[in-house]
Parts: sequence; structure tokens; C-alpha cells
Amino acid sequence: MTRVTVWNEYRHERNQAEIQQVYPHGIHMAIKEGLDPYFDVRTATLDEPEHGLSEDVLARTDVLTWWGHLAHEEVADDVVDRVQRRVLEGMGLVVLHSGHMSKIFRRLMGTTCDLKWREDGLPERIWVVNPGHPVADDLPLWIDLPQEEMYGEVFDIPDPEELVFISWFAGGEVFRSGAGFYRGRGRIFYFRPGHEAFPTYYRSEIRTVLRNAVRWAAPGSGPAPKFGWSAPIASASADSQG
Ligand code: ZN
Repeated sequence: MTRVTVWNEYRHERNQAEIQQVYPHGIHMAIKEGLDPYFDVRTATLDEPEHGLSEDVLARTDVLTWWGHLAHEEVADDVVDRVQRRVLEGMGLVVLHSGHMSKIFRRLMGTTCDLKWREDGLPERIWVVNPGHPVADDLPLWIDLPQEEMYGEVFDIPDPEELVFISWFAGGEVFRSGAGFYRGRGRIFYFRPGHEAFPTYYRSEIRTVLRNAVRWAAPGSGPAPKFGWSAPIASASADSQG
């Protein structure tokens, strides 16, 4: 069974009463609840030792999900290095909402990952633009969220290798809100909604997207690459490639 670690900064929910009302046990517990029927799920948060992401935990994680906002700079660089290394080895990473500015996402993208935003609580419509993509499985053609924060283009990311969703906002903006990337052997999926003030992670279509994104990002069984000097492949046998 795919092993998932749900990581959350877990500050808004402890420090702001109005956010605590929306997510009394933290955003991570709402995300975990949606994934629990399908995967082996644990959680980790910023204020745990090593942010809950020790070598051992990451070695036993197939897919890591990431929610952060206020405290991106408090994430230790050695933990970022460790997560990046695991992604390049094949661990999946699902980056959520304001995680677009996390150190790990910016490191893996190589761009600012910045965007336009407005916290107006107006509706968002998320359009499926690649209905054959596994992350769109079991979804309707669009998902309506009654209240969300607006994120608008330009979203400063590299061109996504796979674009699954585009969002429309009541202010007229659009946004590439579901985007897949490959880095090394790892797969990364960015999914936009999930502002802390709104109960987005309890919604069944959003839980379907997260379930699909975890399945898509889970490590494949492809070959490990070999780098450096290599004998001519003509002299290698089938059992000792390279
Ligand atoms: Zn937000």
C-alpha cells in the first residue's frame, strides 16, 4: 500500500481562532481523513523535530504532500535538501495551495513560483482540461468552489509537463491550477485550492483530486538511471546492464 506523509506547517490553525474553527485538528488531519481509506497515511508538522521529516520517515514515504504559508523560511535547508534528494530518487510530491512559495517547490522548479492573489472569498471554477489524465479520474468536467482565495496568472513556473486543471475566478483571472512535473525519477503535482479560511479539504471532489494526485505521483517501477563512464552497451549482458 502506498505510504503517504501529509506535511503541514500547522500555524494558522493554532494561532487564529477563526481558522481553528474551520480546521480544529489542523489542515493535515482533514487531508489525512480524505486519504486514509486508500493509503497508509501519517502526518508531520513544522514544529516537530526535523519538521517530522527525518531520513527514516522520508525513506518510508512514497508520496509527500506539502501545505505551508506563513513559515516557509523556517523550514531548515538540510530538510529541503533531503526532500529534494528523495524526489530525485522517485518519491512523489504533491504541493498544495500556498505551498507554491515553499523552499522545496521553488528549489525543484528553479523559478520564483510567484503569482497574483486576492483573498476575497468569491467562487472558483476549476476546469478539467485533460480528461484522459489519471488525476482527472472520477471527476466531473468542472468543480465549483463557493468560496476561495484568488490566484491569478502569471504563475511563474516552468511550462508544466502535464496540465490537468485551469481555474477561473469571479474577478476575471485564470490560473494553471493542476500541473504535473518530472524531476529525476520523481513526479510532482501542484494543486491550487486550499486556502486555510475555507473548508475546501472536506469537499469530496477535492478529496478525489488529492487521491488521484497521490496515485499519479507514487513511485513507478522504471529502471534506476546510471551516470558516469560506461562500457559500450554492446558488451553488456541482459543481467548486467551498463
Ligand atoms: Zn491562501
